[in-house]
Amino acid sequence: MSKGLLIVFTGNGKGKTTAALGMAMRAAGHGLKVCFIQFIKGGWHYGELDAVKRFAGLIDLHVMGKGFTWKSDNIEEDARLAREAWDFARTMIASGLYHTVVLDEFTYLLHYGMIALDPCLDTLTNHPSGQHIVVTGRYAPERLLDAADLVTEMHAVKHPLTSGIKAQPGIEF
Ligand code: ATP
Ligand code: MG
Repeated sequence: MSKGLLIVFTGNGKGKTTAALGMAMRAAGHGLKVCFIQFIKGGWHYGELDAVKRFAGLIDLHVMGKGFTWKSDNIEEDARLAREAWDFARTMIASGLYHTVVLDEFTYLLHYGMIALDPCLDTLTNHPSGQHIVVTGRYAPERLLDAADLVTEMHAVKHPLTSGIKAQPGIEF
């Protein structure tokens, strides 16, 4: 019998989202269904969005409402969108349809206080048995780390951007 894990990839080093994508691939390889929810996306055309389409029926990818840059002047509106996105994620978790549910860049919703931590931790730790949840993003709150079964902190040692090397397809997007 499988034991559902709460997994967190956090820290300021590169590799959090790509680690979660790697896990999605690994599960899909076993024919296990994955729901991959991206809470924040920049303006780039992300390669993973197209790659994942080739796994139709195995990996369901959802990009939550535009404007999730947290740079909006309308904080109320941001908070409303965040709650809406979280409601959607909760429904996917509760559906029990998925072997793994990925909440990519979800930590920011908690870090900026867009959604309440307590009910969120409750959902993340009381999910359908055997289902794994993966959360990525910087600034993961301490209590999320306490609640998790697996935490990896990506630590930035070097990044090409610091040497003036611009973002490249297949590397950053
Ligand atoms: P990736 O999507 O490549 O796995 P990530 O999810 O760990 O990276 P995020 O914190 O989500 O990284 O940041 C997204 C973007 O910021 C990526 O394009 C990434 O390359 C870049 N980035 C991540 N870490 C650093 C860093 N230490 N310095 C500069 N840019 C970074
Ligand atoms: Mg990321």
